[in-house]
Amino acid sequence: MPGNRIGSIRSRVIIIGAGIGGLTAGALLAHKGYSVLILDQAIVPGGCASTFKRKGFTFDVGATQVAGLEPGGIHHRIFSELEIDLPEATPCDPACAVYLPGEDTPINVWRDPQKWQEERSRQFPGSEPFWELIAALFKASWEFQGRDPVLPPRNIWDLWQLTKAIRSSTFVTVPYTLFTVGDALRAYGLIEDSRLKTFLDLQLKLYSQVSAEETALLYAATALSVSQLPQGLFHLQGSMQTLSDRLVSALERDGGKLLMRHTVESIKVEKGKVTGVVIRNQKTDEVWTEHADHVVANVTVQNLVQLLGKKAPHGYKQRVQKLPPASGAFVVYLGVDESAIPVGCPPHLQFMYDANGPVGENNSLFVSVSRPGDGRAPTGKATIIASSFVNLDKWWGIDDYEELKEHYTNEAIAHLAKFFYLKPETIIHVEAATPRTFERYTARDRGIVGGIGQRLSTFGPFGFANRTPIKHLWLVGDSTHPGEGTAGVSYSALTVVRQIESQKTSSVG
Ligand SMILES: Cc1cc2nc3c(=O)[nH]c(=O)nc-3n(C[C@H](O)[C@H](O)[C@H](O)COP(=O)(O)OP(=O)(O)OC[C@H]3O[C@@H](n4cnc5c(N)ncnc54)[C@H](O)[C@@H]3O)c2cc1C
Repeated sequence: MPGNRIGSIRSRVIIIGAGIGGLTAGALLAHKGYSVLILDQAIVPGGCASTFKRKGFTFDVGATQVAGLEPGGIHHRIFSELEIDLPEATPCDPACAVYLPGEDTPINVWRDPQKWQEERSRQFPGSEPFWELIAALFKASWEFQGRDPVLPPRNIWDLWQLTKAIRSSTFVTVPYTLFTVGDALRAYGLIEDSRLKTFLDLQLKLYSQVSAEETALLYAATALSVSQLPQGLFHLQGSMQTLSDRLVSALERDGGKLLMRHTVESIKVEKGKVTGVVIRNQKTDEVWTEHADHVVANVTVQNLVQLLGKKAPHGYKQRVQKLPPASGAFVVYLGVDESAIPVGCPPHLQFMYDANGPVGENNSLFVSVSRPGDGRAPTGKATIIASSFVNLDKWWGIDDYEELKEHYTNEAIAHLAKFFYLKPETIIHVEAATPRTFERYTARDRGIVGGIGQRLSTFGPFGFANRTPIKHLWLVGDSTHPGEGTAGVSYSALTVVRQIESQKTSSVG
């Protein structure tokens, strides 16, 4: 703790955004003795992993399942360091039940590795060599990530951390750095297996934003393996909000401060170094500048460039402008009578409807269903949340926004009604979120979700670094390695905290 003081004054860190990335960074820094102030424009913390309440139902806004709760998992590690209890959770088994177009029995992504191997051998005969490669790459990548590499490295300290994480076992991954999943399928003669390809497209799009053809193989290895023991996906008791709530309590216990409904309007930079932020209190409209030794931006990289305005380095800005189009999400939230839910319904399902249509745009839905007693619905009732990736351009600059939203909502309900018993008498509440809704509630540029995509050009070593070109300005969240998800953004927060810690001596200067 003394190391975080310049003389008797503690280093001051301002964090823009109380998403899981910002809260994790803030709680860890406060625990290490930094003076932390987190500002968020929304009403409740948690960003894409927060909740809202209607008619006795609690709906998870975006994230509904959590990775990294097992011993050694990133949330587990961080909660242990903060000395707070992990939220109560139940493992998802199957992690997902995937219904391919025209099929009425699902592909169950079982938690038990042996059971999952039997399932996929039955579902996709001849594909085992591909899965063996995925398993080998996952093992090496997971061990590597567990040694906290800094990716991509931007200075000698980062490079040192990266080098320290490499072992001889890591080299197995090197030849595959420039492979996509499509390349691997071709190498194994599986590219014509349309069932396998559709299954991979559906599962990978959830994590990587792009199809199997485009997803970096090393990223896919983790996304396709993390649902099995000894890792696994979990459903939180209560709601996703419990994750944020516990981080906020750790932050405040350690003297940190969170101000909701406070928007950061710009980041101040002098001589290439961050000096503070301009804040607007939404309730009073008061605007002021707050000094900081470090600023951690828990925003998208597109928002970061906007916050920097003219101070955004030219090359950085250009790189952001040249990024491939990001995804938006359309989400429908249903509060229903429990008679709408089939007996034995798994907590997460994925459906694709038209085999010739796109993955996304309501043609595929990722569905999360509450369980009796999980805190999301009153007794005898349940929540169904269905999301689909959508093209952002469709939702901006249009006159018929309300019509489009209604059309998407009705279409999603009609699709869901093929599996759930959805009738006027079983539907109690209907609400939908579009990219415009996400823009309004999370301030993410144009309502983009899920980060910059895990293509070869943007994943891991080729992505955006946590260390920005501006001194003492850091980027956390799903625009950075290792990508989207509450577990991913927690890794990015941990990296930034270590980077700030490594600069203790330079902040004296
Ligand atoms: C529909 C959907 C489903 C998903 N499902 C899952 C899932 O099941 N499991 C999973 O792990 N992940 C899931 N994700 C992804 C996951 O939710 C996100 O990757 C993660 O929560 C992002 O966290 P973050 O900290 O990077 O940023 P965010 O959650 O975007 O938080 C950023 C915060 O910063 C605030 N902010 C932004 N700009 C400013 C500003 N200028 N001033 C003040 N405050 C500002 C916002 O209000 C927000 O609270 C899903 C996402 C979506 C959209």
